[in-house]
Amino acid sequence: MALKLEPGTRLVVATHNPGKARELAEILDNRFVLVSAGELGLAEPDETETTFVGNALLKARAAAEASGLIALADDSGLSVAALEGSPGIYSARWAGPGRDFTVAMKKVEDRLEETGAKDFSAWFTSALAVSWPGGPAVVVEGRIDGSLTFPPRGDRGFGYDPIFVPEGGALTFGEMEPAAKDAMSHRARAFAKLKAALL
Ligand code: IMP
Repeated sequence: MALKLEPGTRLVVATHNPGKARELAEILDNRFVLVSAGELGLAEPDETETTFVGNALLKARAAAEASGLIALADDSGLSVAALEGSPGIYSARWAGPGRDFTVAMKKVEDRLEETGAKDFSAWFTSALAVSWPGGPAVVVEGRIDGSLTFPPRGDRGFGYDPIFVPEGGALTFGEMEPAAKDAMSHRARAFAKLKAALL
């Protein structure tokens, strides 16, 4: 089977995060017919792997098997150098059951204060997996480096955007125009790799 995605292909997107779904749709330029796992009523599998790539693959495979459609899944998060890569794959979980990122960002700030770290380097990672039902899969990873700033600034974007300043910039992801973030983000970088592999 040729691992190519034809324009107009119906893809199930295995994310239940509206912020990510918006970014995924924009980055894909309406090239495909996207159906979300939520719309199809698919269950969300437990993210039991230990890496971004492992979890993206697990989610894509589960959605492909459950729907019979080619599935696209992502796993992403913020890694902080002084916290040995935390929250990493636990980025969503640090926000608690209420998905409150004010809580998650405060937790990052408190942990940094506890360690007495002077180095606020951090990076976002996005792993993207495309899986064919009963068949092969392709996984790629993109990353953007930057540093953290406190207190959080800006109400655009989502998640940890208000505390992340990309390398060479002055504004946080939360303050930037969405298009400016989309042009440089970890997710855009992963998509560039995915497009090169599959289009
Ligand atoms: P998951 O990929 O659904 O496990 O969740 C990843 C979590 O990482 C999200 O809920 C966000 O909190 C965080 N995250 C991933 N990408 C971004 C981003 O572009 N900006 C801000 N936070 C992000």
